[in-house]
Amino acid sequence: MTTVPALEATSADSGFRRTTIERRPVGPQDVAIEIQYAGICHSDIHTARNEWGGTHYPVTPGHEIVGRVSAVGEAVTGFAPGDTVGVGCFVDSCGRCEYCADGQEQFCIEGVTATYNTPQADGTPTRGGYSGAVVVDERFVLRVPEALDPAKAAPLLCAGITTYAPFKRWGVGPGRRVAVLGMGGLGHVAVKIAAAMGAEVTVLSQSLSKQEDGLAFGAVDYFATKDDETFARNKGRFDLILNTVSADLPIERYLSLLRINGVLCSVGLPTEPYSVRPGALIAPQRVLTGSMVGGLPEHQEMLDFCAEHGVESEIELIGADDVDAAYDRVVASDVRYRFVIDVAGTLA
Ligand code: NAP
Ligand code: ZN
Repeated sequence: MTTVPALEATSADSGFRRTTIERRPVGPQDVAIEIQYAGICHSDIHTARNEWGGTHYPVTPGHEIVGRVSAVGEAVTGFAPGDTVGVGCFVDSCGRCEYCADGQEQFCIEGVTATYNTPQADGTPTRGGYSGAVVVDERFVLRVPEALDPAKAAPLLCAGITTYAPFKRWGVGPGRRVAVLGMGGLGHVAVKIAAAMGAEVTVLSQSLSKQEDGLAFGAVDYFATKDDETFARNKGRFDLILNTVSADLPIERYLSLLRINGVLCSVGLPTEPYSVRPGALIAPQRVLTGSMVGGLPEHQEMLDFCAEHGVESEIELIGADDVDAAYDRVVASDVRYRFVIDVAGTLA
């Protein structure tokens, strides 16, 4: 075991404190990683504050991890000490079921092990990237292309894959009209990726305060959802709406913005049920669906795509003692556009 510095929350309203945690010895298939950067995803906040229920305290979030390989097990073939690597939302799965065999580890029948908050054999929860180091099975380690800035690549490990995967699934490309609903951490990466895929991208944000940024990220249009005119003007316009909003929404209102056969795909994960009349789906044959992160092969494909197209996250680099304040700013939609903890500089 190795003792490493970490941040932990001990209850829904405790905030974070510094602590130390144990990392397992490096097994034959393992990669030991000295963490440099950890992005703050809104899912970290939902979990730390127990908004979804089921948080195992003490919790150390962080599933947007970039760091340097410090050691590898004897059976590891894909990585060597010194490599810059990433770890996303998952660190283990059975590796044998039909979904694992198909590279969709997020749906592992035996249950995927999340990077944090999954109980392990000894009863303690996995601990994530707000920590100095982590030991991860090689299958769950990604290569971070040299073309990407490591700090700006960290958010791609969740925000990137969570938006890239549904875009691929729903055929985003030239000639397709895509709306990104909510331009926070996921949303701003979504705008960049959809634009890089060649789609016509529109941002639907609460206000126009980030319009200039949205257009710079590659959107051609930007509308405020607090303005009723937005719904009249864009009625029946989009092939796909990617809903990245972290709060409850009147979802049926957004369905009206879809073309016939259009798709509203939610990745934002608030807690209240959707209220949708069947007719809002049936008459225009619309699809209301969701998407969860992505599989491991698709993670690597996404990172390589981002390197090729110059897609990086816009970040605010913060210190380990600034996480509580950062959480409040994320909840207030006051982030431009992802907080990333300088782990190597301020925690390790
Ligand atoms: P974020 O940075 O906080 O962005 C969410 C955006 O939603 C905000 O920037 C804001 O955009 C909009 N928003 C917030 N409150 C709103 C409200 N009351 N009404 C309307 N719009 C509001 O969060 P994130 O890290 O991108 O995560 C977004 C959601 O995705 C979270 O629920 C997270 O748990 C979930 N998530 C899901 C997956 C998955 O696999 N499905 C993966 C990662 C995260 P504007 O300021 O532009 O309006
Ligand atoms: Zn996330």
